[in-house]
Amino acid sequence: MVKDKQKTKISLKKDELFNCSRCGNCLAVCPIYKQELDESVTPRGKLSLLEAVDKGVMDFTNRLSDKIYTCTMCNSCTVECPSGVALKEIFEAARLDLVDSHRYPEILDMLKKRIAEGHNVTFDTNEGRADWVKQIPGAKLEDMIKDSAEVVYFAGCVSSFSPRTFSIPRSIVQLLDQADIDFTLLGDQEWCCGFPLLSSGMEEEAKKLADYNVAKIKEKKAKMLITSCPSCYHTWKHTYARLSTEAVDFEILHISQYLLKILKEGKLSLNPLHMTVTYHDPCDLGRNSDVYEEPREVIQSVPGIQYVELEKNRAQANCCGGGGNLESLDADLAASIALAKAAEIADANVDAVISACQQCERTIGTALKKKKKELKKKIKVWDISELVLKSVQGK
Ligand code: SF4
Ligand code: SF4
Repeated sequence: MVKDKQKTKISLKKDELFNCSRCGNCLAVCPIYKQELDESVTPRGKLSLLEAVDKGVMDFTNRLSDKIYTCTMCNSCTVECPSGVALKEIFEAARLDLVDSHRYPEILDMLKKRIAEGHNVTFDTNEGRADWVKQIPGAKLEDMIKDSAEVVYFAGCVSSFSPRTFSIPRSIVQLLDQADIDFTLLGDQEWCCGFPLLSSGMEEEAKKLADYNVAKIKEKKAKMLITSCPSCYHTWKHTYARLSTEAVDFEILHISQYLLKILKEGKLSLNPLHMTVTYHDPCDLGRNSDVYEEPREVIQSVPGIQYVELEKNRAQANCCGGGGNLESLDADLAASIALAKAAEIADANVDAVISACQQCERTIGTALKKKKKELKKKIKVWDISELVLKSVQGK
């Protein structure tokens, strides 16, 4: 019935699987459970299904696959588990097995095809990857693509192709110019980092992207890669060393870390912004990459800012619903998770919520717009780079 257990990835996680005491602590923090109230899609429920597969009493079926992929991969369950079960790692292994067994959502084939043919997650060709530069008055793309530079800014697919988030790369290159940084873009030579494939269980396809992207950075003789996307950051920083056949021998920083570095070096001057703001921890930057303090330091270094924390913050931060490819598999569920996040932000009574992720900015922005009539005041949604640029420009 079940394929050879020794060949499944979840069999290698057997000890982890059987460590679960069934206490149920993970249920209360799971954004999926909070919306669905269905045990079979909870972290504990998913583990029970995978245990059954490992014991050979159940097979990898499409129905089981639907349950496993109903997950934002936010990792809240792992943080909350008193038994130390590394749930996200188990779910990643399960997705690898489901791909091996050809039991994965059909829509992921489309994603795989788009990335293989166009080298990005959209239906657009890669030639338009840096079209957002045209929106910066006086900027020329040819000035931002050099043969070599100290720093490469890797914009990532969503910021490069989703007009709603063009403000993020636009702000970043303006800040880099202002700070007189020797930087380059890759333009249409930048390929998807592979994160959407990795989180879908399609590791083999992601390896080709890793080799290509690492080679491109080396061609530029860069000492550092910076990125504004937490998922690209996580992939470059924590996965490429394993995936790539070439050594990753340059520094990798998220833009929040890089902004803090150049602020400390005195390369940017900040003007006051008189407003109350909070910060939303993106899952791939916070829980999944352990970057919590740098974004907070950057925000609080802006004079005049009143900073408040959300009720759930840092490792306990609530997910915005934008991860794990859930949006393409169940858009309504992803939207309901985002609405819950928007309600938490509204309760903080702030003028703006700052994030450090284009996906969070998109999902939270949409959810706050839907809640417009219920809100006491309009809440702005800005990326950390937009906040810093506004302060540098004094507006
Ligand atoms: S990773 Fe997040 S969404 Fe997935 S089961 Fe765990 S808590 Fe739920
Ligand atoms: S919190 Fe950990 S031990 Fe408790 S049910 Fe969830 S996975 Fe099992």
